[in-house]
Amino acid sequence: NATNEFMNSQFDDDNYDTFVLNKDGTIIYHHDKNRIGQKIDDNSLKQMALLGNKGNFRLTDSQGATFLAGFAKVKRADWIILTLQTEDIVTQALNNVMIDVTKKSAPVLLITLFMITLLTIYIAKPLRMLGLAASRMDDPDVISKIRAVSSWYFEVEHLKRVILWGTILLHKRIGKLSSQAHTDPLTGLLNRRGLHENIEMSLLNNSVVSVIVIDIDHFKNVNDTYGHDVGDEVIKMLGRHLKTNSRKTDLVCRTGGEEFLMLLPGIDIHLAVVIAERLRKNVAEMSFPICQHITISIGVTSFLPKEVPIDAALKTADNALYRAKKAGRNKVIVQDIPEDLALMLHKQQND
Ligand code: GH3
Ligand code: MG
Ligand code: MG
Repeated sequence: NATNEFMNSQFDDDNYDTFVLNKDGTIIYHHDKNRIGQKIDDNSLKQMALLGNKGNFRLTDSQGATFLAGFAKVKRADWIILTLQTEDIVTQALNNVMIDVTKKSAPVLLITLFMITLLTIYIAKPLRMLGLAASRMDDPDVISKIRAVSSWYFEVEHLKRVILWGTILLHKRIGKLSSQAHTDPLTGLLNRRGLHENIEMSLLNNSVVSVIVIDIDHFKNVNDTYGHDVGDEVIKMLGRHLKTNSRKTDLVCRTGGEEFLMLLPGIDIHLAVVIAERLRKNVAEMSFPICQHITISIGVTSFLPKEVPIDAALKTADNALYRAKKAGRNKVIVQDIPEDLALMLHKQQND
């Protein structure tokens, strides 16, 4: 009775079914008194024998219901205390716990996901910008764009430094190659390609532009008499003279062997003739190494870039130079651009 009373006070939960068994499996306590004296099924007894002093197992009764069973043996009395609970109740309780946990943790999870996404974007942003800049290496602003990328963590700072270093090196090399391609190696002046690359810039102002073309007279004789090296020195010295007697805004080019061209923005025909005449006179009076004296012939013309194509001006200046040679050399000849030539080239360019 005391046991009965104690057990009833301990296990009054309807969800539990509690048995006290003696060692051969006879029920000596159950809250349903009718079951006292009955034996529990052999299967459960076998399971408990296998598990030892205590344990738990799953069992299915004759109606097919499944239970979770827990038992412990009371050594002194040789009893077994066994509790059964229907599996559905346990899983239902677990499901409720899961739903409760999910409900409570969902906002935290969402906030965490949101923060992770923000952080990922923040971390990836400088990498994306570096990648974008690096994919446009030919952009003249690429270096300042790479510099502007905020490198707030070590790895990006390192990557940025490496990309910057590579880009600066690449730009330097490209700049060097481009300037080599546009420069005449003997005189350091622009070559024909350099002239055409820079011509548009010189014509931007739309004010009058003068063209002076220069060719050394009887230069073949210099080569034949004193050798090619002396000829080279003469070309170099003349190139230097033209450059030092020009403004920053003028283009000075070596267009061929011993031929030079000067493009003088903002200089009208009168001033161009004065400049050409001064050049011719100075060169005739200059003392060149070994060969001593040379003379030059000069063709001069002027044009308004918005009215006359540059090709017409270059052609006219060449014609003037040809006439200077014909007229006996060491001369400056001025020629206006014929209207029909200007018109023809203008039409050709616009077709
Ligand atoms: P002209 O008065 O008619 O101009 O007579 P020219 O002898 O100067 O004739 P032309 O302009 O046809 O000949 C140019 C010569 O310049 C031919 C070539 O041997 C020489 N030449 C061309 N390029 C170079 C160069 O880079 N160095 C040297 N030393 N000579 C060159
Ligand atoms: Mg010549
Ligand atoms: Mg020539």
